[in-house]
Amino acid sequence: NKSVIFLASPTEYPVPGKHFAVETRKLNTELKENDVLIRNLFLSLDPYLRGRMRDSHIESYIPSFQIGQPMVSGGVSEVTESKNLAFPVGSIVTGTIGWEEYTLVSGGQDLRVIPDARESKIPLSAYVGVLGMPGMTAYSSLKLIGQLKAGETIFISAAAGAVGQLVGQMAKRQGLRVIGSVGSDDKVDFLLNELKFDAAFNYKKGSILENLKAAAPKGIDIYYENVGGEQLEAALEVLNVHGRILACGMVSQYNTPTPYGVKNLMNIVGKRITIRGFFVTELAEECEADFAKDVGSWLIKGEIIYREDIAEGLDSAPEAFVGMLQGKNFGKQVVKIADL
Ligand code: NDP
Repeated sequence: NKSVIFLASPTEYPVPGKHFAVETRKLNTELKENDVLIRNLFLSLDPYLRGRMRDSHIESYIPSFQIGQPMVSGGVSEVTESKNLAFPVGSIVTGTIGWEEYTLVSGGQDLRVIPDARESKIPLSAYVGVLGMPGMTAYSSLKLIGQLKAGETIFISAAAGAVGQLVGQMAKRQGLRVIGSVGSDDKVDFLLNELKFDAAFNYKKGSILENLKAAAPKGIDIYYENVGGEQLEAALEVLNVHGRILACGMVSQYNTPTPYGVKNLMNIVGKRITIRGFFVTELAEECEADFAKDVGSWLIKGEIIYREDIAEGLDSAPEAFVGMLQGKNFGKQVVKIADL
């Protein structure tokens, strides 16, 4: 059973071969009552997994990976053996899987059957993207805490990524003016020409603050925070009075031992800014049904676009993960482990 094994905690970007590596191990296939054996098809690579590579002594909201064990993530799989009535052999499931070809899922854990998966026109990778955790992150945060109003201006960082591309399109549907920042000119083109953002800039070119001011002559009302650091600093400067920050993540801070010191926090007081952090896991339940109905129908009707970046084969997973943390992904980063 080919697997990606966690070897050591990085302090900066993880290095394939040093912090995680592909190995082939014997798989235990002895199922106990309620266990399920799955063949993994798609694996989701997400920034929060970098936090799970931390030293196990450091406390956090989510357990660290165990050294010598396969990394885990969200995925889509086919049930190949089952002692669990909820997961018949042949069903297609989504949930937490190992970075490996096959996973023995004790008690079925958090798996969920994807109904009619084999007949559907929706690609299976969507269940770790637009119809999975990143899609739910965008949808639930805007719906439950965003308080979006037509005519407002929203600025989104990492705007071409798994979450960002949806936040922008969902905000546009509600009549907001949408500005995005990204790390390449190709991504700027994508935001402007395919997703129809109102403005976009490459944060690696010129001053972030000047680019943001030029894109938002009337200031911004909401900053959808995905990266932290200098972009947060610029957003604080350009936010309007009573502006809001939806703090989703700060990916620029995940691979550096020296955090960026944001210098202009006084803006929070002066402009009475609200900063609200959230976890998708705490928001998801409340809008599960609406999410499936709304986003499912927008997708089928072609009313939203969802770009994915699919790396081929489990061997490519470590490099693809580091690439995603460095912005080499163009859209939601997925690994295709096997064909259905
Ligand atoms: P993305 O698909 O957006 O991939 C990460 C992107 O981050 C890269 O493509 C890159 O885009 C950008 N990036 C990397 N390093 C930097 C840097 N130093 N400065 C600026 N941008 C950088 O990932 P997701 O959409 O999955 O995640 C986006 C954010 O949302 C992350 O912070 C993540 O932790 C957070 N998140 C939070 C959740 C929650 O429940 N709170 C749930 C899901 C995600 P570019 O080329 O534009 O630089």
